[in-house]
Amino acid sequence: MRAVIFSDEKKLDNLDIDNNLPDEKGIVLSVIASGICGTDLHIIEGEGNLCGNVILGHEFYGSIDKIEAGSKVQCLNGNVEVGDFVTVVPGIICNECTYCNSLPLNENYCLNRSVFGLNMRDAKSNIVYGGNMEQIFIPEKFYLYKVPKSWPLGLATLLEPVSVAVKTVKRTLKYVENIKNRSLTAVIFGLGTLGFFIGTKLRKCGVKVIGIDPEKSRRDRALRNGIEDVFSYEEMTEEFYKKYCKNSWNGIEADMVFEAVGKPDVFAYALHFARKGGVVMEVGNFLFSGNAEISPNLICNRELIIVGSVLADANSYFEAEEILEEFVDKSSEVICNYEVDEYEQAFRSALSRTEGLKSNLIF
Ligand SMILES: [Zn+2]
Ligand SMILES: [Zn+2]
Repeated sequence: MRAVIFSDEKKLDNLDIDNNLPDEKGIVLSVIASGICGTDLHIIEGEGNLCGNVILGHEFYGSIDKIEAGSKVQCLNGNVEVGDFVTVVPGIICNECTYCNSLPLNENYCLNRSVFGLNMRDAKSNIVYGGNMEQIFIPEKFYLYKVPKSWPLGLATLLEPVSVAVKTVKRTLKYVENIKNRSLTAVIFGLGTLGFFIGTKLRKCGVKVIGIDPEKSRRDRALRNGIEDVFSYEEMTEEFYKKYCKNSWNGIEADMVFEAVGKPDVFAYALHFARKGGVVMEVGNFLFSGNAEISPNLICNRELIIVGSVLADANSYFEAEEILEEFVDKSSEVICNYEVDEYEQAFRSALSRTEGLKSNLIF
C-alpha cells in the first residue's frame, strides 16, 4: 500500500510498504484524506526529536474496512459499521499516570499520551505511523467520530484542527468576566488554520474580532468569512490600535488576545493589546521556538491573565462539526486537495504558509 514516509535521512518519500495490519482489536480504516498540520511541518523542519522512519498524519479520516471481531469500538456520535466514514481523535490518554488519576478531564495533560503520527509505533516494523497511508489500523482504545458522507472530499480532515480552535476559545472564555453594555472583543495574531477558526468560533459566540496577519490572502479570507477587520503588522502599530479602540471599541482594548502565529516576539507584542484584566491566550508555540522578553510590570499593573492551550478535547468535535457545516458549500476556502503522488507539492504548499489553506493528501 502507498504511504508517505518521512525517512531517517530526513526526506519525504512516497513508498509502497507491506500491509501487515495487526490482529488486535480495533478497526481497519481506508484513509480517504490526511491533512498536513503545522506540527508536521515543524517536524520536517527538524524540530521535535522523532527518530527513525515516520508516517506522519494525525488529521485523517476514512472509510471503515473492517471491525475486528469482539472489538469495543468507541464512537463519540453514534454507532458505526463497515463502510461508515470516520475520523479518529488522534490522541488517547493512558488512564494510569498521576495526571490521568487526578485530572481525568484534562486529557491533554496525560504523561503517556499515544498520538498517531507522533509516537504510535507499529509493533512489527517499529515504525511511527499516522494517517499518511492508504490503510491504517486503529486500536479499539481510540475514539472515533462519524463524518457526514455528504461533505466534500477532504473537508473532514479539519475536524481535529477546528476542535483545537474550539477548545482554545472555550478555555479563554472561562477567564473573561461578565462585561456590561457592550460586546466582547478579541484580537487574533495569525490567520492560518488555527487563527482563522478561532475567529470563526468567536464570531459564533457574538465576539467582535480583528485579525492581524502579514499575508493579504489570509486577511481577505478572514474578512470574507465574518471577521470584522483585518490588518497587516505594518498597519497595526500600537498607536493605530489605540485609535482603533477609541473609534470602534468604546476606548477599551480587547478582552481577549490570541497568539496563533507561534513566534515568541509576537507573544511579547500581543501583551500590549489586552485591556486591563484581559486574557492573553498563547496557542501558537506548541513546539519550542525560542524565548521572548516581556514586561512583568505590564502584567502586574494591567492585571493581565496569561493562559496557554494545547490540543483539543474529544468534546469539541461536536462544535467543530457545526462550524465546518458552514464550509460545505465553500470548502475551497479552507482546504486544498492533492493526490498522494503530488505529495511534494502538497508539503511545499503547506510549508509556504501563505494561503492558510489546509493541504490534504488524498489516498
Ligand atoms: Zn494538527
Ligand atoms: Zn495518563
